[in-house]
Amino acid sequence: MHYWNGAFHEGSGKNHTLINPATGEATGEYRLASSADVNEAVAAAKTAYPAFKALTPGERAELLLGLATQLDARSQEIAELESRQTGKSIRLATEFDVPGTIDNAKFFAGAARQLTGLSAGTYWEQSTSMVRREPLGVIGSIAPWNYPLQMAAWKIFPAVAAGNTIVLKTSEMTPGTSLILAEAATAAGFVPGVINVIAGDGPEAGETLVTHPDVVMSSFTGSTKVGRRIMELAAAKGSRVHLELGGKAPFVVFDDADIEAAARGAVAGSLINTGQDCTAATRAIVAREHFDAFTSRVTELMESVRIGNPADPATDMGSLISVTHRARVAATVDRAREAGATIHCGGEIPTTNHLGEDLPGDSETTAYYAPTLISGIDTSAEVWREEIFGPVLVAIAFDTDDEAIALANDTPYGLAASAWTKTTNRAMRAAADIEAGCVWINEHIPIVSDMPHGGYKASGFGKDMSQYSFEEYTQIKHVFIDHHDDPHHEWQDTIFTS
Ligand code: NAD
Repeated sequence: MHYWNGAFHEGSGKNHTLINPATGEATGEYRLASSADVNEAVAAAKTAYPAFKALTPGERAELLLGLATQLDARSQEIAELESRQTGKSIRLATEFDVPGTIDNAKFFAGAARQLTGLSAGTYWEQSTSMVRREPLGVIGSIAPWNYPLQMAAWKIFPAVAAGNTIVLKTSEMTPGTSLILAEAATAAGFVPGVINVIAGDGPEAGETLVTHPDVVMSSFTGSTKVGRRIMELAAAKGSRVHLELGGKAPFVVFDDADIEAAARGAVAGSLINTGQDCTAATRAIVAREHFDAFTSRVTELMESVRIGNPADPATDMGSLISVTHRARVAATVDRAREAGATIHCGGEIPTTNHLGEDLPGDSETTAYYAPTLISGIDTSAEVWREEIFGPVLVAIAFDTDDEAIALANDTPYGLAASAWTKTTNRAMRAAADIEAGCVWINEHIPIVSDMPHGGYKASGFGKDMSQYSFEEYTQIKHVFIDHHDDPHHEWQDTIFTS
């Protein structure tokens, strides 16, 4: 199903079967969005734009607050669907994905009324200059499957808060909660065509959206490889892009760190969303004197994580998104093992959890993977360099602070990082010298609506969330008002003097 112009529509593309990756069961079937469907959704967004743009920020804020209320009323249904379509634990969906999304809607309701620019002033004789911050038009956004609801929210809310209309393409594997969001927007009073959601594949639906002549900006979250393709396509028509791409976050444990806090942070930070999180801790860089204590404690904690049916509130970690993705994760770990790496824990497809309880379904058709800690590699190893996007942490030891910072920056990516230390000077140095869009000190993961999220280096550019996201979704107009009573304006003498 798809949602445009205020109503659900059948797609006209290829058939697609939805699978719950934690049970292996088919949960539904639908037709993907074809290019023709994308065109209809964009046409709806284009028609809705002039009237929506004309609303006051206060009116848009009311709509977003209404949407937050609608989502809140359906929060359980949304959390269950998010868990079913991704394999993530119901606890994570209930306590992180859904409340985070509702908070984001409320944040952008407030932020819509706080759009700022230069104050009006006189910068040229007898005149007033002022700045209008205006929306762009129809935004085409593309989201990944790891946090389908939150990614939809991060794209849609700042866009509409600023007065744009939007067509969001979800991953074909995870359309459900984004469609509920669009339906809830209509219930909250958004007029048809302002928020449209289509579910389709990348090459057809995604590329049609990016290349559509009426789409003035493409906002993309996904892999670096596809991000570059989007930029190439947008370049051909000269339109704006905002790219939130992959990550390979360093997790630096200095010699004065609280090792228990760091170990706990590393387990939570690497296993969140079964490790399918672009900011997840993936490279632990640990002071040599604490390396053994750190890796043993991380191993102990990882082995206590309760894997299981995501629908059970007692489950800590559900499955990966698909058996295909699980095969990629497992093959990467297997190659590291074959190359001589030490696998402290995990590194296998589990059939039971640490309590000996059977996992649901058949391991051939479900996508579970055990929490995995790897060491004994050097910085040329694939597991150190490439994004794995699974519950896999790689650890390496360092001797000096300079070496720690160099290791942290030894990646093409720059999305997020953390540093663990009790010393202010070290914390401040790590904050300044690590090349990433976010540096946490003595934590790893907290993401809040009020603060910007976005990458450095190959992790992309532009920001989701916070007031900074309006830089992506608005354009600035200089308005100049002349005050002369005299038809003679002095500067015109440079052109003619009669
Ligand atoms: P992906 O790049 O394969 O797909 C992302 C989206 O792009 C999907 O909707 C897909 O259908 C679409 N797409 C694929 N090919 C396309 C094309 N040629 N044209 C237009 N659209 C196309 O990524 P994924 O596997 O869905 O998600 C995982 C990746 O996303 C990881 O690299 C992860 O780090 C990244 N990610 C980044 C952030 C962030 O905020 N930086 C957040 C979540 C995920």
